[in-house]
Amino acid sequence: MDSKVGIPVIDAHSHYFNADTLRNWLSRGRTMESFAKRTSSRTDMTSIELPDENFDTAQRWVDELDKYGIETMGVMVGVEAYDEFLETMKRFPDRFIGYANINPAEPDATDKVKKAHKDGFKGIKLYPSSWKGMKAYDEIVYPVYEACKEKDMLVFLHFGITIGGQADLRNGNPIDIQVPSRDFPGLKFIIAHFGAGWFREVLMMQYQADNVYMDSSGSNSWMKYLPYDIDLKQVFKKALTTGGSHKVLFGTDSTFFPRGWRINVLEAQYRACKELEADGVITSEDIHNVFYGNIQRMTGYKPPV
Ligand SMILES: [Zn+2]
Repeated sequence: MDSKVGIPVIDAHSHYFNADTLRNWLSRGRTMESFAKRTSSRTDMTSIELPDENFDTAQRWVDELDKYGIETMGVMVGVEAYDEFLETMKRFPDRFIGYANINPAEPDATDKVKKAHKDGFKGIKLYPSSWKGMKAYDEIVYPVYEACKEKDMLVFLHFGITIGGQADLRNGNPIDIQVPSRDFPGLKFIIAHFGAGWFREVLMMQYQADNVYMDSSGSNSWMKYLPYDIDLKQVFKKALTTGGSHKVLFGTDSTFFPRGWRINVLEAQYRACKELEADGVITSEDIHNVFYGNIQRMTGYKPPV
């Protein structure tokens, strides 16, 4: 299947929210007002449609994928949407790749990793920037890494700045994953959003480690908060020339409606990569790796025949 930009695309990083996700947020002391305020000043969203009981999250995303010719999307699935997502994988085989949000502070975290693997998930997602007291290198997280290694699960991590208002950026430096990446050479760690501001640290780890990857997901608005000018083309150039094209995974961080699947993110990132190809910096094979091949290989995703 070819996407709107003319190449096959897998979105490696998006989110699966349902009515319970919102309810869960509100129960943890967030208000829709504060959230709407943060999104309007920090994202391209002018409105958010709140999922209610009748909201068919799975069908809505499949319609979006069909609209833009996207084969499948990797989604972060919270505890509250977990059971619904199991049904979604049965309803729409091949259209979603699941990563389970699993908090290592929970006593049954390793069992949850094993269950997620059994249920067909391909990875887990950790939020050191947001989860209270979570340090990616802490001993408490090691059994979770061990379980992921045993089950060949990917480990996505959100370091750096975040739209969530509860962040603790003391734990947001991706350098925190260097020691675990050394201790678990067989595990694949994927830093979301190029490190969301800590891009230098993610690049340094391309020297230090062979198993630290990055995803390109979202608007990458962190670029605006650096003390120097940098754009998507330069970000891709640095990422691809330090780590190599097998280390960079395309993603959109699509989450909400009515915005839907973020075709503008694909267009902008594809354009940046095509310019690098025209400049002789990367090849069409590199582009294929980034937009399709890497996540396909890393998750074992097989396109429908
Ligand atoms: Zn995300």
